[in-house]
Amino acid sequence: GALVELENVSLQYGESEFTIALRDASLTAQPGEFVAVVGPSGCGKSTLMKAATGLWKPSKGTVRVSGKVVDRPLSIVGMAFQNSTLLPWRTTLDNVMLPLEIVQPHASRLAANRAEYEQSARELLALVGLSGYENAFPWQLSGGMQQRCQLCRSLIHDPKLLMLDEPFGALDMFTREELWQVLQKLWLVRRPTVVLVTHDLREAVFLADRILVMSARPGKIIFERQIDNPRP
Ligand code: ADP
Ligand code: ADP
Repeated sequence: GALVELENVSLQYGESEFTIALRDASLTAQPGEFVAVVGPSGCGKSTLMKAATGLWKPSKGTVRVSGKVVDRPLSIVGMAFQNSTLLPWRTTLDNVMLPLEIVQPHASRLAANRAEYEQSARELLALVGLSGYENAFPWQLSGGMQQRCQLCRSLIHDPKLLMLDEPFGALDMFTREELWQVLQKLWLVRRPTVVLVTHDLREAVFLADRILVMSARPGKIIFERQIDNPRP
């Protein structure tokens, strides 16, 4: 079955009608599928992500991940955002390993597996071209490098679902297109289900198997289109 399934999800942030951000939005993504959600600013794309990951409870409708109803924030998702959320006092390597500390909070087991975890972090960093920067701090990296690091962090715990909210929105055009290649490579190696929110239609066409288009606020998915992307 589907890995993610939103069924007629409505989400209202407050009491008044004006706070309705989603109305009857439905979406499914199959295991390993790359789905892009595009739509105008403010239509509810981030809200859709918050609902899908349990960060915000829908007012109506159901969200299922791996067939289970989502009723609290999921720890088994990878996430990356437009703004760097790397911790400035941690090195690249330690930022990438952060989710492992959260899914495995027992200090003793964490210590026992440290070498193995460090190895998988180094492998991911090599895949995105950040070998040699393991001990750098975020403020020593360019914006593009910070997003490479953020992508590694989002995948380190091998999540089945990767949620990306405008991850390249703050990058210049050239860096952005480099990052498309990086993300595609990571996806092909790890093959998570990806839901990518973007307002860049070219980005969606380059990366996705399927594009979902949202209407203006309050958003719902009004159109979808399969993309025949050649896959290696
Ligand atoms: P998009 O990601 O498509 O730009 P968002 O999902 O961020 O859209 O926002 C959809 C609408 O919901 C916007 O009008 C926004 O102002 C509103 N909104 C988002 N988050 C909140 C919140 N926490 N409280 C109230 N309104 C919010
Ligand atoms: P919890 O909120 O209790 O962590 P979740 O529904 O988020 O529950 O996770 C379900 C189970 O999957 C938990 O037992 C959790 O430890 C485990 N888990 C969390 N992250 C991962 C992961 N990356 N890979 C495999 N299992 C995980």
